Amino acid sequence: MEANIRCPKCKGTNVVKRGTSPTQNRGVQQRHLCKDCHKTFIQDCGFWKMKNNEAKITAGIDLYFSNLSSRKVRNHFRRHWQHNASHVSILDWCRKYTLKVQKFVNTLQPQLSGLFYMDETEIDRGKGNDVFWCNVDWGTRYINATMYSPRNQTVEDAATFLKATVAKGLPKYIQTDAGIFYPQAFQKTFYSNKAQGLTIEHRINNYHKTGRHNVRIETVFSKIKDRVDDFRGLKALWSAPILMQGIILQHNFIEQHTTTGKIPAELAEIKLEAGQNRWFGMIKLASSETKGL
Ligand SMILES: [Zn+2]
Repeated sequence: MEANIRCPKCKGTNVVKRGTSPTQNRGVQQRHLCKDCHKTFIQDCGFWKMKNNEAKITAGIDLYFSNLSSRKVRNHFRRHWQHNASHVSILDWCRKYTLKVQKFVNTLQPQLSGLFYMDETEIDRGKGNDVFWCNVDWGTRYINATMYSPRNQTVEDAATFLKATVAKGLPKYIQTDAGIFYPQAFQKTFYSNKAQGLTIEHRINNYHKTGRHNVRIETVFSKIKDRVDDFRGLKALWSAPILMQGIILQHNFIEQHTTTGKIPAELAEIKLEAGQNRWFGMIKLASSETKGL
């Protein structure tokens, strides 16, 4: 029996390998036979009807989210792979599979240390700034919440983001910079009543007093900030938040963090069999359905 493979017709798992079939764009693929209803099929690993094979697509996604621009990924493909792919196709793959994997990731429950560090990064898209809100859990380096806002920082945005940050469990504290919108947003979000005071400790790192930025998580944020440069060319507002999300997936699920030597999702006790090509593994996990041929 093949693990994790379901028959597309009867949804049974009594499935065995049965030869291979050529496909138009993705080479030779394994065929399966359902021993219950006798249907034969090729498993849909999330690359059904794509014009490129999964190795190339996942390499493109990994390279782009590793901070290579879509044009540089295209140039790399021209030098190393047989068929060409435009830089627009590469962005399309990144968006398509980020949405797919994110939907799956939303169902997972990370185990966090509860020491939260929050930051807002301004993203210059030419016409004024967008703000990217981000919260990192110190013990795992897992980014558990992000928000993309097409305007400067406001109390309302900070409050909305605080709520998203604690949606899956209350932390021990949240540290922020000395942004003037934070104290009000904390009050709005966490005051249960006046006698009890704040239910979550708000630690403020005042750069002007300490001479230090949010040092503990500097490595995480500087990496994310490095990667927003390619966004300046993105005219479409809808595209930027999806690609930001992909950068976060790359951080949480694909790359080992330099200090801990572990993938944040591992430290957060999320157990996934994603294999060596982790984007491929994540897409496969997110596409549990199979389709017949
Ligand atoms: Zn069947």
